Amino acid sequence: MAQIIDGKVISQIIKNELRLQVQDLQSKGKKCTLVVIQVGNDPASSVYVANKKKACEYIGISSRSYELPEETPEQQLLELIDELNNDAGVHGILCQLPLPKHINEKRVINRISPQKDVDGFHPQNVGALMIGEQGFVSCTPAGIIELLKRSDVEIEGRHCVIIGRSNIVGKPMAMLMLRENATVTVCHSKTKDLQNICRQADILIVAMGKPKYITRDYIKEGAVVIDVGIHRDASNKLCGDVDYKDVEPVCSAITPVPGGVGPMTICMLMKNCIDAMKDYS
Ligand code: NAD
Repeated sequence: MAQIIDGKVISQIIKNELRLQVQDLQSKGKKCTLVVIQVGNDPASSVYVANKKKACEYIGISSRSYELPEETPEQQLLELIDELNNDAGVHGILCQLPLPKHINEKRVINRISPQKDVDGFHPQNVGALMIGEQGFVSCTPAGIIELLKRSDVEIEGRHCVIIGRSNIVGKPMAMLMLRENATVTVCHSKTKDLQNICRQADILIVAMGKPKYITRDYIKEGAVVIDVGIHRDASNKLCGDVDYKDVEPVCSAITPVPGGVGPMTICMLMKNCIDAMKDYS
């Protein structure tokens, strides 16, 4: 039977560690503040924002939120970001994506100060990751590295295949695995013979956004499988990009959905926020 990589348990351990760090900083008179901006009321975004606030409360990070109407002009959002960039009491700024169609996402991401960009989406932070310099790393891939390390999965020298090349998961994931000395292959929608490439993976990280796409035919016996996808199946149950029931018997370790990668993302956001205060205040 495969080892279940339990993101719920691991994220709770990290949250408790972060809570202690925040208590220590507070005893030195330092208070960490995260600002979350939501434009419009996309229901999924509202759930994510509420979860982020809950995590902040647990850890002891002060959170402030701006819930702006759907029709907010881009200029108004950019001015709010400028104001928060200049506010020394704000350490992290996060603008919940997706934004309404009339707002240029790239312009918004680029406007957040790289020192407060706790999502790790600003080109300066992306570039820093690329050349191995200090900066904020996108939270989902950073969380996956924590999951692997804390589950004693060896990374160095192993072949890691990543399915997906998005800016927030696939590409930063590839950079982080390289940093950990894995041999990395990145696959995407134009990759030929995906199955054959996946079957060469010691560690397979799936972020393709296709429910239950990856079956045991894609898995080398004993591989470690990390499932980033989140979907609702026909019976409205949460599932990932990996067909868990089919794959679990042939791999050595696997993340479930829910309770695998998901809980780690918010955890890493909290960590970035604390780092923002430690590094730059
Ligand atoms: P995306 O849609 O931006 O990227 C999907 C990637 O998969 C693309 O690079 C595409 O080329 C590749 N792809 C699609 N079909 C393919 C195929 N048939 N063969 C090979 N590659 C293929 O998605 P994303 O933002 O990277 O997210 C991926 C999944 O992870 C989604 O289900 C998303 O909901 C989920 N997600 C979860 C978390 C979390 O915290 N657990 C965070 C971010 C994203």
